[in-house]
Amino acid sequence: EIRTPMNGVVGMAEVLTDTELTDEQRLYIETIKNSGEALLVIINDVLDYSKIEAEKLQLHPAPFDLEKAIHEVLRLLQSTARDKGIVLAVDYDLRLTSQFVGDPGRIRQILTNLVGNAVKFTTEGSVTLRVSGGVAAHDGKVALRITVEDTGIGIPADMIDHVFGEFNQVESERNRQFDGTGLGLAITKQLIQMMEGRIWLESTEGVGSTFGFEIALEPSGPAQLDHPPIDPALRHVLILDDVETTRSTLCRQLEELGLKVSAQSDGNRALESIDNTVDLVVARQNTSSQSGLDFASAARDAGYAKRVVLLTQSNGQTKADPRHDKVDVITQLPFSRTDLTEWLLSLIHI
Ligand code: ATP
Ligand code: MG
Repeated sequence: EIRTPMNGVVGMAEVLTDTELTDEQRLYIETIKNSGEALLVIINDVLDYSKIEAEKLQLHPAPFDLEKAIHEVLRLLQSTARDKGIVLAVDYDLRLTSQFVGDPGRIRQILTNLVGNAVKFTTEGSVTLRVSGGVAAHDGKVALRITVEDTGIGIPADMIDHVFGEFNQVESERNRQFDGTGLGLAITKQLIQMMEGRIWLESTEGVGSTFGFEIALEPSGPAQLDHPPIDPALRHVLILDDVETTRSTLCRQLEELGLKVSAQSDGNRALESIDNTVDLVVARQNTSSQSGLDFASAARDAGYAKRVVLLTQSNGQTKADPRHDKVDVITQLPFSRTDLTEWLLSLIHI
C-alpha cells in the first residue's frame, strides 16, 4: 500500500501546522503538505490506471443525482477558475432528469478530469458543461451526451488522438507551463469505455477545445421532466450579461419556458432598450461595463424592472449594499435548474 504512509505524511504535516512554529518552519511544513497532496493525486492516478490495465477495477452502480454531481465538481474547481478570471457555466437540458443509476464516484472522476483540464488549459474566457440526452427505445436507458467546451489554448490536429494515451501531453513550450502527469485523459477514456461509452475531442489551436462523451445510463425515475409552472404575469425577461455562454444558455432556457426574452451584453444599451413590457430583469453583477446592481437600480429608479434577479460569480460573500433591496433574488453562478425554477416561482408572489 502506497497510499497509507503518504496519508500519514500529509496528515502529520497538517497536525504540525497547528503547533507553535516560526514563519520559516511553517513555510517548510506547508511545502511538505502541498507536495504530499500533489503526490497523492499522482499515486491515485497511477493506481487507478494500473487497476484498469489489470482489469481489476470495478464499477459500483448506484442511484445518484447527475446535476448535483456536476455542481459539486464545479464547486471544487470554482476558486481556481475565479482566480484565473474564467467563467464556469452549465447548460443542463431543462427536460432531462438528473436521477440516474451509475457509478457516481467514477462519473465525478471523469468530469473532474475534463473540467479540470479545461480550466487548466484556459487563460481567459469560459468553460461550459452541457448535458443532453434522449431515451433509447429498445432498453429505456438515456443516451447521455456531456460536453465540456473551453476557450483555451486548444490542441493541434495531429495531437488529437495522442492526448488520450498514457503519459501523453502536447509537448510545446506553451503547454509545459502547466503541470500534470498526462494520465487524466487515459484514465477518463478507459472509464468511459468500461461504461460502454465513447469519448471524442474537437479542437482548434488558439481558439479552444470541446471534449465530449456519451454513456447510456438507466434513469431511476421518469427520463423526461415537465417544465416548471410559470406565472402568467411573467411574460418578458430582459437579460443583461456580457458573458456569451451564460447569456445564450439562459436566453434559450427561458424561451423554452415560453417567455419572451431580450438579451443585452452592455448595461447602457440595456437601459436604453428597457420599457414597461419587461416583467423581469436578470443581470450579471460583474459585467465589464455597468454592474448588474447599477443597472438594476437605475432601471428601477426609472420605474422599470419590477422584479430583479442578480447573478453573482462570487462565493456568497456579496458585499452588503443598500441597493440590494432593489433586488428580489441574488443567485450564485453557475446556478442549478432547481435554483432557476425556485427563483421563477418565488417571483410569483412579489
Ligand atoms: P494529469 O491529468 O495527469 O494531471 P495532464 O492534464 O497533463 O496531466 P491529461 O489530462 O491526460 O494530462 O491531458 C493530456 C494532455 O492533453 C495535456 O497535457 C494537454 O497537453 C492536452 N489537453 C488536455 N485537455 C486539454 C484542453 N482542454 N485544452 C488544451 N489541451 C488539453
Ligand atoms: Mg488532466
